[in-house]
Amino acid sequence: EQGLSVPELAQKLAVNDAEIIKTLFMKGIVTTVNQTLDEETIKLVCQEFNVEVLTSGSVKVEDMVKKTEILDEEDLESLETRPPVVTIMGHVDHGKTSLLDFIRKSKVAASEAGGITQGIGAYKVSVMVDGAKQSCVFLDTPGHEAFTAMRARGAQVTDVAVIVVAADDGVKPQTQEAIAHARAASVPIVVAINKIDKEGAERERVMQELSGIGLMPEDWGGDVPMIPVSALKGENVDSLLETIMLVAEFQELKANPNRSAKGTVIESCLDKTKGVLATLLVQNGTLRKGDVVLCGEAYGKIRALLDDTGTRVETAGPSTAVQVFGLSSVPIAGEMFEVLDSLEAAREQAEICAETSRLARLAAQAAEGKVTLASFT
Ligand code: GDP
Ligand code: MG
Repeated sequence: EQGLSVPELAQKLAVNDAEIIKTLFMKGIVTTVNQTLDEETIKLVCQEFNVEVLTSGSVKVEDMVKKTEILDEEDLESLETRPPVVTIMGHVDHGKTSLLDFIRKSKVAASEAGGITQGIGAYKVSVMVDGAKQSCVFLDTPGHEAFTAMRARGAQVTDVAVIVVAADDGVKPQTQEAIAHARAASVPIVVAINKIDKEGAERERVMQELSGIGLMPEDWGGDVPMIPVSALKGENVDSLLETIMLVAEFQELKANPNRSAKGTVIESCLDKTKGVLATLLVQNGTLRKGDVVLCGEAYGKIRALLDDTGTRVETAGPSTAVQVFGLSSVPIAGEMFEVLDSLEAAREQAEICAETSRLARLAAQAAEGKVTLASFT
């Protein structure tokens, strides 16, 4: 059946069923909780909640993305170029981890005296482009889950998607899935044809397969760069990095460093001795030690910031990932964060957020007949 039920839509929008029904009522449409909403109606509701529906045809919950504006109008006057944020995706065993490892080892270890201490979920490397050093950030969470989890929460952190395809194995289901994710998020794709050092590597076959599913290689007059590499030996990885930078440059990525920080939670955990740890990717503005941060139901004054080499830093500008200490609870990866003026204001917002998710959970349970509507009060 096409469409979504009222509770499905409510859960996705993190509101309760009544709010959906009320929203529609205000638009002159009378609905009950048991009704299935058609595409047009879903889009009408989504508009009110600033959520974009990516598909046309039968709408699925996964196709709905909260529009998050990273840049405000006031930022437009003080924009500066920021480094691109890159995600590596691809079929299992095609070499995602090896590629990340090679890039990190050669780029980070070479430039940082102490080498890498611990992964924080993202790291910055420097790449030479036309004789000038430029930065690039890699998200250290390969695989689609991270990508989809973020997108489902409305976070758009990736500027360039690298799809790794093993030259001896070709396009696989997860390769196609990865491509579909990148496309759904309108993120430009760079293909790394990996394992070219291996016996049985067939670069042309991979290109053929990819063109068969709509990714036309640049070499054949299309618009998708496909770089043959060996992640194991590091062969041609420089050329891959350069290509990523070129694709990024084309997007004219900008942010305003002279404002309070906004961004996305990349990773989070509860450490037995250190307490709540969260890696925040600053996407706009500058995060400072002592800032009051709100991310969903979690909030707190940032007591310390660690960069991707484990070094304490005082500030983090656009396209910088830092591990922060001082949050009240573990925030969800993919949640947006922002800096507020006071701890009191942050606490208030966090409580509202917690209450909203509680209602959304109840709405979902009510839809399944697990609780009655009386539990809402
Ligand atoms: P992932 O599952 O995509 O993260 O793949 P891994 O990076 O774990 O690689 C899977 C296997 O392929 C490992 O045994 C790697 O050593 C091997 N591998 C990865 N890249 C290359 C490469 O460029 N050449 C060769 N010969 N082997 C590779
Ligand atoms: Mg891996």
